[in-house]
Amino acid sequence: MSINTNLLIIGAGPFGLSMSAFCLQNSIKHLIVGKSMDFWKNNMPEGMKLRSAYDWHLDPAGIDTFERFMQVKELNPDDYRPVPIELYLEYAGWFQKQKNIIPVESMVTRLDFNEDRSEFIAEMDNGEKIVSKNVLLALGFKYFKNIPTEFSEQLPAEKYSHACDISSFSKFNNKKCLVMGGRMSAFESAALLYESGASEVYMSYRHDTPEFTESDWDWVTPLLNKMAETPEWYRDLDESEKDKIGKRFFGEGRLKMEPWLKPRLDKESINIFPNTEITEIIESGDKLKVNFNYGEHITVDHVILATGYKVDINNVPFLKSGNILEKLKIINGYPELSAHLQTSVQGLYVTSMLAMRDMGMFFGFTVSVNASSKIVGNYLIKK
Ligand SMILES: Cc1cc2nc3c(=O)[nH]c(=O)nc-3n(C[C@H](O)[C@H](O)[C@H](O)COP(=O)(O)OP(=O)(O)OC[C@H]3O[C@@H](n4cnc5c(N)ncnc54)[C@H](O)[C@@H]3O)c2cc1C
Repeated sequence: MSINTNLLIIGAGPFGLSMSAFCLQNSIKHLIVGKSMDFWKNNMPEGMKLRSAYDWHLDPAGIDTFERFMQVKELNPDDYRPVPIELYLEYAGWFQKQKNIIPVESMVTRLDFNEDRSEFIAEMDNGEKIVSKNVLLALGFKYFKNIPTEFSEQLPAEKYSHACDISSFSKFNNKKCLVMGGRMSAFESAALLYESGASEVYMSYRHDTPEFTESDWDWVTPLLNKMAETPEWYRDLDESEKDKIGKRFFGEGRLKMEPWLKPRLDKESINIFPNTEITEIIESGDKLKVNFNYGEHITVDHVILATGYKVDINNVPFLKSGNILEKLKIINGYPELSAHLQTSVQGLYVTSMLAMRDMGMFFGFTVSVNASSKIVGNYLIKK
């Protein structure tokens, strides 16, 4: 069976849901596919707290905001600071109901572009085909996890995990674990490991320890509003201005850690080694002996890689199996984009992490979902 639509949104996380809400409000015929908030449910750890607060919401119309949800449910935001992941998921579920967004919960297995007909054909894992004039990829981080080769090439797969593959740390009860990485996900993983009963937690990273102080994100939303109104604005800034904005965002996001984490890390069995590098990891029975560049070693049961993400659109499975990659202009793993998030294949748009090279680091966070929906949606309306 085949279904026809104008816009196929692939991904039902924050970016896809927000895009769907924009389409519903503006009568853009569309279909949203993917598992609702899948990454948040299955690739973020139980007990996680958000860095973002109540002002980052999913509604481009500004009606069904996170703050509105708290009012309707008669919840006091002060009782939930920092925001627990479970509460954010409740908000996302409420938002979908308010907007009547019903994603088709099946996965795209192959995407092709028919140039003669200027249309996309998506094959689904339920056997259906969706034919669409336009496609938006809202795929988040999952296909882009960064696993340094010293782990993937030297260790058996069961001895290490990327942080996004751990949805609960309880399996590390009584285990000794090394967390690689020194940013938010690494520190939060270390705290959650300790709280889940790990007997010893080690952290190693190559840089200084970031400062545990509140980040200032207030300047980001006005900037994104400007981008939504005039998509070319950010693109037309000269490189030094973009660089300044990028550095400011990096400073808030990566050089500062949430202050509420600090007391959770001040524990005898959490050992933090800044400015260190691993020189060798040797399997020794069912343990791992980890040697550091300053001459010391530790013995652990498991390594957790909080080593982040590296975008490469070539890794997206349903693109690999179709004919689109060969037509795409790709720079350092990112598709080259127009100001309206359109790739070099007419009608194919990307957002979220895949848009970070051209639109800035904001697109790695949900703060940009509404700008993203307006940029693509308003362009489709005019087209
Ligand atoms: C540890 C961690 C903590 C974070 N904390 C915050 C925070 O506090 N605040 C914040 O704003 N951001 C945070 N982020 C970033 C946030 O997770 C991303 O910005 C956001 O999830 C991206 O949303 P998305 O809609 O692009 O994708 P995702 O939420 O990743 O959703 C991807 C969607 O794509 C679908 N999909 C994938 N493949 C297919 C397919 N083949 N067919 C159909 N559908 C498919 C999935 O089913 C899913 O619905 C954090 C990220 C991490 C890793």
